Amino acid sequence: MGEQVRLELQRQLQAQREQYAERLGQELPELAGLAARLEQQAGLASGRQRVQALRERLHRIAGAAGTFGFGHLGNRARALEQRIDRWLDSQKPSGQALAALARSIRQFASQLPEPDSELSQPAATEPDEELSSRCRVFFLESQPDAAQASAQALRNFGYEVCHSADRQALLAAIDRQPPDALVVSVREAEDLAAIAALQQRLETPLPLLVIHDRFDFASQLAAVRAGAQGYFVRPLDVTLLETGLERCLNRPQHDPYRVMIVDDDADLAERYSLVLQNSQMHTRVVSEPAQALDVMQAFNPEVLLLDVNMPGCSGPELAQIIRLRDEWLRVPIIYLSAETDIGRQMAALLKAGDDFITKPISDSQLIASVYSHAQRARSLSTALARDGLTGLLKHADIKEQLALEVHRAARSDKPTSVVMLDLDHFKGINDGHGHAAGDSVIRALANLLRQRLRRIDSLGRYGGEEFVVVLPECPASEAARIIDEIRQRFAELTFSTSAGAVFQVTFSAGISETDGRSSASELLERADRALYRAKHAGRNRVVAGTGG
Ligand code: GH3
Ligand code: MG
Ligand code: MG
Repeated sequence: MGEQVRLELQRQLQAQREQYAERLGQELPELAGLAARLEQQAGLASGRQRVQALRERLHRIAGAAGTFGFGHLGNRARALEQRIDRWLDSQKPSGQALAALARSIRQFASQLPEPDSELSQPAATEPDEELSSRCRVFFLESQPDAAQASAQALRNFGYEVCHSADRQALLAAIDRQPPDALVVSVREAEDLAAIAALQQRLETPLPLLVIHDRFDFASQLAAVRAGAQGYFVRPLDVTLLETGLERCLNRPQHDPYRVMIVDDDADLAERYSLVLQNSQMHTRVVSEPAQALDVMQAFNPEVLLLDVNMPGCSGPELAQIIRLRDEWLRVPIIYLSAETDIGRQMAALLKAGDDFITKPISDSQLIASVYSHAQRARSLSTALARDGLTGLLKHADIKEQLALEVHRAARSDKPTSVVMLDLDHFKGINDGHGHAAGDSVIRALANLLRQRLRRIDSLGRYGGEEFVVVLPECPASEAARIIDEIRQRFAELTFSTSAGAVFQVTFSAGISETDGRSSASELLERADRALYRAKHAGRNRVVAGTGG
């Protein structure tokens, strides 16, 4: 019975989704037409009325799209609606701004509506997209020497850096066109107050990194109040700054969280599911506890919502079964229950499980609780799969990734390149400047590779100061060109120690290319032989190996 109700509900949902897609097929072209007309006649007095009409349509889409599985579309409609509101509210609404707004709406409405995909893979990027999508960073630093050195280092990492020595000039530039991130080297107490005021004015606060002389509580508090997401003390370790930038900029437009709901009351489960879907999460409903393990295996949830009282197998019992498996340890289990007795709640949690929400459950409580658990679970599991120093894949994982890419290359008939990369005379760096300085070099190289390579490329820390890069659909000659450019940039970076020493480091690299026959380990071996030749030829160079 429960299963039937669930299937029927799902059929209905799917039907509703299809109906809505059809409706969008009409609404969007109409909206595009209206926007195009407004774009041409943005200066006319009737502008306000036309804008209202657009706003109404956007508002309708914003309200409905998410419910029918078009969350992305809904979000964008909402953003446009808010832009209209700001235009309507502004003291001196400009025709130019209106034309730009109309253009955005037309572009939005001219695209085919795409439902949110279940497996939203990040789109593969073209190699040259890297340049056009470079991140713009504004940098306030009034001391010329420090400005010169840090700005150059950030440019080497691939950022577009606009430096300003003057706070007022910087604020004015931000008002003209906000950057992707802001780095403020604090020299006077007013610096942070001015930035805090700026952040209040902006619709969305800018990601901010603060460089400061002191590490005291009051200074950090001022930084946080200005919206700081990173805090660095002079002398500045540019690599750490860059890691901070990367963290706040590349925060990936994350894939939806996956939530599994186990409740024998199918209607109720379906309702939770809809609420969570509306908040852009992916859900699976299971109303028969015995099926939970199979669904878990297939769906790989990040959070589990579990009813406590179910016939056949209680929630805590199911939780204990799940906890028998190590691979599911990182999945938080939240009980949904009418149980209000704290003692019995505690008893359930002691057996297994991480949290309790008591029925009746408000939508916002459900969303907040699931969201916070999902967020934490994901950051934990990302942290575990990655190398602690560099954030790159660990040895076993990059090998696994390489094997995958080798298979893919064999199928697609397009060559993939394998790069083995090793820092030159690195023992000397450690001996001369200390292990911490060495670590910072390793981190810098990891960051540089991440910045410079495409999203489809894989990067791993193969050994201590050895890296492996896999470049799909990239012949060895092209890989050599790319890696050599990175080599030159890396060689230009200067590192400084707290003792005041300044030094530079180089790397050597060897490259092999798939041939449809060789295995992953053969390719690694060939890249390693090419690396060996690069070392022997004098280091600080890239060698592409030829054949077996
Ligand atoms: P070559 O140019 O021939 O590669 O010389 P090398 O000195 O780099 O080569 P070798 O393999 O002899 O030494 C590598 C050194 O890297 C030894 C080790 O102390 C250092 N190393 C390995 N892992 C780490 C790490 O995580 N941090 C730091 N700071 N040093 C590391
Ligand atoms: Mg080395
Ligand atoms: Mg080595």
